[in-house]
Amino acid sequence: MKNKILLAVLAIGLMSTLFYTQTNLSQNLKTQVLIDISEKTNPRSETLQSYNYEIISQEKNTIKLDENEEKNLTIILQNTGKNSWDISENSKNSLYLKSIFPNETNSNIYDKEEENWQSPILYKISDKNGKTEIKTNETLTFEFKISSPKNAGYYKEKFGLLLENKKLLRTKTLDFDILVKGNYEDSYSYEYSNPIMKDNYLPNKEKQIQIKLINTGKTPWYKSENNYAYLQETNTKTETILSEPQVLPGKEGTFLVNIKTPSETGSYEKQFVFGIKDLKTFDSTPINFEMNITNKKVALTFDDGYGEIDPFIDTLNEHNVKATFFMLGAVAQNQPEQMRRIVADGHRLADHSYNHPDFRTLSREEIVWQIEETRKIMKDITGVDPAPYFRYPYGASNQFSNSVVEENGWKWIHWTNGTGDYQHHENSAAGRHQTYFYATLNPPESSIVLMHIISKSTLGALPDLIKWYRENDYAFVTVDEL
Ligand SMILES: [Zn+2]
Repeated sequence: MKNKILLAVLAIGLMSTLFYTQTNLSQNLKTQVLIDISEKTNPRSETLQSYNYEIISQEKNTIKLDENEEKNLTIILQNTGKNSWDISENSKNSLYLKSIFPNETNSNIYDKEEENWQSPILYKISDKNGKTEIKTNETLTFEFKISSPKNAGYYKEKFGLLLENKKLLRTKTLDFDILVKGNYEDSYSYEYSNPIMKDNYLPNKEKQIQIKLINTGKTPWYKSENNYAYLQETNTKTETILSEPQVLPGKEGTFLVNIKTPSETGSYEKQFVFGIKDLKTFDSTPINFEMNITNKKVALTFDDGYGEIDPFIDTLNEHNVKATFFMLGAVAQNQPEQMRRIVADGHRLADHSYNHPDFRTLSREEIVWQIEETRKIMKDITGVDPAPYFRYPYGASNQFSNSVVEENGWKWIHWTNGTGDYQHHENSAAGRHQTYFYATLNPPESSIVLMHIISKSTLGALPDLIKWYRENDYAFVTVDEL
């Protein structure tokens, strides 16, 4: 399904922040910046002491700019370094502001390296009151003019300070957000790109709805504080800010909307509108997301970890499903990045012993070691405790092992729908069919599906079996919600 929205009226927002990449000293009104003049002969610390300034004041009000309009801006800089600034007309060491004010769509991209500044405009710094030298602790008032870009929308204006040689000084940027009025229609639009517009949830849960939109307009979307792109829930007016720092035209942006699910089962409509912070008004076609509140639940579980874990995480993420990974301690040691990803992406990491012994053959000490050693490894790697969720290798247990496991505070999790997928390491039609068939075979209201990372067939079957569970009103849960 596709929605297209168009946003109305734009204003101009103007803010300033000075950045120093190694040390962001950003404050609200008073922003300090350290100027590295990049003279390689000077020890860095000395250089930093020599060139230093603060912004005493600058324009803070919202200014509306039409397309092709020009605007005067004023900033007051205080020299807080040791060196005097010679800003006379013929100074060899004058300071400049260099702008990358965008005049074309997509030109407002600054990728942290001075070489990639685009559409540069150079402003030689002078003092409104005619001062030609600014000594330590003195201030100057600098007026300069900006002109709006062709297209309406939000832009990032970046300025850096230069010396006479006009080499841009990396890391010293004045950062403006600029919002330009005009014909907004070309600037902001999107298409809905979620794989699903409806999902099942358990009652009374804190959950996250994932909404993906493709930026089909001409202006990038940002996450930054003054001009962020957001989804607003129509009823509550709650805003959810874009997840990515920047979404260029043609790219996909994600909004992770936190919700509390209703206590009664049934169907609920959530409605969202897309917006850009500080736009005075906008007109957008709402995005409708259907929440089906159900008591049926399924935990997709993946065991062991031999093989490639990433494609499983990718597929689950793509379908907005959280799953449980019963991993071996030995696997966790070998694939620490994947363990961290499991946790970071909101899945549940659980304990499946260190190296997959048959627990019916183990002593008390061996049982405890297998589980606790794995727990320690996982905690060290991810910072997250897999306890109390444990699954027996082969699902094999006896009364003795159960008593030891339980005495140590662990809950062992079996399954309702085993798939036998470890028989199919490769991705084959027969293997996919087997996984799908058993995963969806008469599942109870609280279903636990057992699958294995080793099976590429299972990876292949995953989208279809997710679809089946979703269409059959099951909420996807991790083992802690069973
Ligand atoms: Zn296993």
